[in-house]
Amino acid sequence: TKKEKTWMEKVIKEDEVTKYMDGGKDFINDEEIWEKLIDNSNPEPARIREIIQKSLSIQTLEPDETAALLNVKDPELWQEIFDAAGKVKKKVYDNRIVTFAPLYCGNLCVNNCLYCGFRRDNHVIKRRVLTLDEVRREAEVLAGEIGHKRLIVVYGEHPLTGPQYIRDTIETIYSVRVKTRNGYGQIRRVNVNAAPMSIDDLKMLKEVGIGTYQVFQETYHHETYEKLHPKGTIKAHYQWRLYCHHRALEAGVDDVALGVLFGLYDWRFEVMGLLYHARDLEKQFGIGPHTISFPRLEPAANTPFVQETRYRVSDEDFKKLIAVIRLSVPYTGMILTAREPAHIRREIIASGMITQTDASTRIGIGAYSDRYNEQELERQQFELGDTRSLDEVIRELAEMGMITSFCTAGYRCGRTGERIMTLLRTGKEAVFCKLNAVLTFREWLDDFASPETKAAGEKVIQKELEELRERVPEKVYNKLLEYYRRIQNGER
Ligand code: SAM
Ligand code: SF4
Repeated sequence: TKKEKTWMEKVIKEDEVTKYMDGGKDFINDEEIWEKLIDNSNPEPARIREIIQKSLSIQTLEPDETAALLNVKDPELWQEIFDAAGKVKKKVYDNRIVTFAPLYCGNLCVNNCLYCGFRRDNHVIKRRVLTLDEVRREAEVLAGEIGHKRLIVVYGEHPLTGPQYIRDTIETIYSVRVKTRNGYGQIRRVNVNAAPMSIDDLKMLKEVGIGTYQVFQETYHHETYEKLHPKGTIKAHYQWRLYCHHRALEAGVDDVALGVLFGLYDWRFEVMGLLYHARDLEKQFGIGPHTISFPRLEPAANTPFVQETRYRVSDEDFKKLIAVIRLSVPYTGMILTAREPAHIRREIIASGMITQTDASTRIGIGAYSDRYNEQELERQQFELGDTRSLDEVIRELAEMGMITSFCTAGYRCGRTGERIMTLLRTGKEAVFCKLNAVLTFREWLDDFASPETKAAGEKVIQKELEELRERVPEKVYNKLLEYYRRIQNGER
């Protein structure tokens, strides 16, 4: 419509793009990336082991080093890489894992990304934007019935779901408080996956307590990007997207998140792109990505491109790319989503490289408070691989020896941005956060767990308490026990 067109013309602020560019060039140079990949083919095992050691000391890798890892052929050397990736995660985050749910607020979109079910030209799907009352109802189910404390709210790019709407939805979600079995449920962290915004709009979202600002570049390869994002749409502007995390950090947003939609272009190239991106943020702001996501392209209703792609990533390569990202940006959180089927999620989570995963996931608009129905696919952006409940996922994690942390205190205490980076790099966060992981897991088990999950969870908690007695000073341990008892008595 005319209204949409006028709105689109005003979105991109060119001066906010060029501000962070280096002499008019962006930090992704396609030729340079291919050169690095070619120059580092056939790396010596000794060199790979040196690179692994560097990752284990929690240092971001150089492009040449990541390129060398990506060129490993020997399966035994790959096994060493997988093992090291698990060790890096353990050193930085220990056996903690965080769960969240996506909340889709609207599927209107002015863009036409060829791979996405929400694209403008897809007339098959039903378009809908949640009212704030509907957003509240969704949050009530998520916080009060399922037991989530963290959400990622997701929006198409459209004047009806622009920055003001995003602000209102964040405020609405934070205002929800629901009585539970033994306490109350509340969403404590609202992360946002939305289109690139201006510095002023991001400042506005910072004011209402935006969590992580997540935008995926989709593909770092310029030519592919141009092909998949038709001219005349906002998303066609590669650099407006590439520098949106820079703008967010400038606006005071503490945490930003990167991602690639794997399957659009060569996966090795994309991993290099993520590394260059992380390094540029580190260089310009002293802060790298809070998390990195690596969604694989999924089928979407009436979206033929997905079937045509020749860059589909096999399960084997998927594991490799996750391990290389883990080693290349060792401090970052890594998100594996329910796009993946349960057996892949199980295998990858068990290998210990992941820090966050979603559960009880529904991606239809309004799907948490509605009954799950057959038309669901028509409201969805793509098809989900794993629809298991949070309770089931947590039980499985507990059986693997992992503790699900519902703690969001770090953010509220200002342990974000540069401060959290130092704690992560030095491995201090691993123990520090375990205390709150135990306390918040206790709350969750008492408020939401099924009897089977509770039984599996109790075992994990007992083991953690025993370990913490050895790992933290007595004074701290006694304080932990005091809080633990208060929670058992119903305090939250
Ligand atoms: N509209 C905003 C944007 O494009 O940045 C944010 C929301 S969009 C719904 C969130 C992400 O979904 C996109 O960044 C893209 O990576 C992912 N996505 C789109 N189509 C997909 C598909 N067919 N399979 C898997 N993920 C997809
Ligand atoms: Fe719109 Fe985002 Fe889907 Fe592209 S990926 S069509 S911008 S919702």
